[in-house]
Amino acid sequence: MSGATVATDLVVVGGGMAGLTAGARAAELGLSVTVLERGADPRYPANARWSGGVYHVGYHDITAAPTILRGVIDRATAGAADAAQADAFAANAGRLVEWMSEGGATYTGTKVAWQQFILAPMRAMRAGLDWEDRGPDQLFRRLTERITSRGGRLVLGARARSLVMTAGRCTGVVADVGGVTQTFGARAVVLADGGFQASHERLGRHITRHPDRIKQRGAANGTGDGLAMAEAVGAATSGLDLFYGHILSRDALTNDRVWPYPELDALATSGILVNGRGKRFADEGVGGVALTNLLARADDPLGATIVFDAAIWEGPGRSARIPANPTLPEAGGTVHVAATLEDLAIKAGLPAAALIETVRGYNAALGAGTAGALTPSRSTTKTSPMPIQAPPFRAIPVVAGITYTMGGILIDGEARVLRTDRSVIEGLYAAGSNTGGLEGGEPVGYLGGLAKAGVQGLLAAESIALRSANGR
Ligand SMILES: Cc1cc2nc3c(=O)[nH]c(=O)nc-3n(C[C@H](O)[C@H](O)[C@H](O)COP(=O)(O)OP(=O)(O)OC[C@H]3O[C@@H](n4cnc5c(N)ncnc54)[C@H](O)[C@@H]3O)c2cc1C
Repeated sequence: MSGATVATDLVVVGGGMAGLTAGARAAELGLSVTVLERGADPRYPANARWSGGVYHVGYHDITAAPTILRGVIDRATAGAADAAQADAFAANAGRLVEWMSEGGATYTGTKVAWQQFILAPMRAMRAGLDWEDRGPDQLFRRLTERITSRGGRLVLGARARSLVMTAGRCTGVVADVGGVTQTFGARAVVLADGGFQASHERLGRHITRHPDRIKQRGAANGTGDGLAMAEAVGAATSGLDLFYGHILSRDALTNDRVWPYPELDALATSGILVNGRGKRFADEGVGGVALTNLLARADDPLGATIVFDAAIWEGPGRSARIPANPTLPEAGGTVHVAATLEDLAIKAGLPAAALIETVRGYNAALGAGTAGALTPSRSTTKTSPMPIQAPPFRAIPVVAGITYTMGGILIDGEARVLRTDRSVIEGLYAAGSNTGGLEGGEPVGYLGGLAKAGVQGLLAAESIALRSANGR
C-alpha cells in the first residue's frame, strides 16, 4: 500500500543521538523537521539511550582545546582519520556539551579526566543494562521536546528503505510506516541510523566469517539500512572492516546480567588470551577495542579464554569503571578459579600441558624483556603485560561484543555525503555510527561514539540551515 507524500525541509533517518541532535538543531535554526525512527515504542531501544553517557574524545576531556583534540585523534588512529572530518570534530566537540546543557541536560563527573561530562543521572556501577531514567534516556526526551516544541515530528515505527533522487540531488526518503509505504519529501536528508552491527550479512561481508559467534553489545537495531541507501545513490564508504566493542564474558550469550558490562578488556590486556588448544593467538597488547576486533576474526571466536592470576584480578580486574572484580561473579558470570594452572586447565576445559607451556613461555619472555619476540608478538607500548604467577589462577571464557561499526558512509567536514570521486551528493548528509573516515585506522582508534554522533548531528543541521538560507 502506498501513502501520501509529506514534505519538510529536513527528514532525518534514525532517532538516536545523531538523528535527534540534527533534528533539534535544525528545528532551532528554523527548519521544518521530520525524524523517522524504526522503533515503535516511545522508549524505543537505541545505542545512545542505553549508553553510559560519557562525552569524551578518544578518552580525553571533550572540552580540551581543538589543537589538543586534533592530536588525540591523530594518535588514536595513527593518522588515518580523514583530515576534514577530524578538523571539524576537534573544533566542535567542546560546544556539544554546552548545546546539550542549553536544552536542559545536566552532567556529573568522576575523578578521571575524560569523565568530566557524564549525562546525569549516571547509570549504576554494576553489571548488566541500566538505562531507564538515566541521563541518556532523559536526553532523548529533551531532544525530542526540542524538535516537537518547534513544530517538528518524530514518526515512530517508520523504517526508511530508500532515497528519492531528483536530478542528482537527494529530495526525500521512502519509508515503511506500519506496513504502509510512505514518501517523505525534503530539501535535505540526514541518515543517522547507527551503523550495521546488527546485520549478519554485512558483518559476514566486512568483519568476520562468523557473525553468529559474536555478541551484540547494544540495542542491535543498526542493520546498515542507511549505508545501503547511500551506496545505492553512489556514496563512497570507508573503513567497513572495524568496529567498536569490548571483550565480554561468553555467558553474555545466555545471561543478560553480564552485558554490556563488565568489559573484560583490562584482564585480557594484562594477562593472556588463549584458544581451545591453550595457545595465544593474538597480540593482547593492542588494547581492548583492537583485541576485540582480533577475537571476532579468530578461527573460532567462541573458543577463547582469558587466563590470569591473583595480582591481575586484584589490580587491573578492579580498574575499569564497572570492574569485572567483583561485578562479573556477582552477576553469575563464569570465573574458573584454581590453585594450580593444571587444575585451572581442567576446569576451563583446556589442554593442561599446552596451557602450562604457554604461560611458562609468556612469563619467561616478560622476565627477559622479550615479549615482542613471542609468537604471536606481545606489544607493550599501549598496555602493560603482567606475569601469571600468583595463585589462585583464574580463567574466563569470552566472546567479542560488538557495540557499533566504526566505518561507513564517507562524509566531509559538514557531514555531507561524498561520492567515490569526493564530489558531494547534494541534499544528502550522514551522522553518527553509520559514517566512516573518522575512527579506526591501524590501531582501531575509538574516539567516543556519543561525541561523534552529536557533533556530526550539529554540523549536518547547521550546514543544511546555512545552505537553505543561501538558497542552495
Ligand atoms: C552499552 C553502551 C554504552 C555506551 N557508552 C558510551 C559512552 O559512555 N560514551 C560514548 O561516547 N559512547 C557510548 N556508547 C556508544 C554510543 O551509544 C553510540 O556511539 C551512539 O549511540 C551512536 O549514535 P547514533 O545516533 O549514531 O546511533 P544510535 O544511538 O544507535 O541510533 C540509531 C537509531 O536509528 C534507528 N534506525 C535504524 N535503522 C533505521 C531505519 N532504517 N529507519 C529509521 N530508523 C532507523 C535505530 O532504531 C536507532 O534508534 C555506548 C553504547 C552502548 C551500547
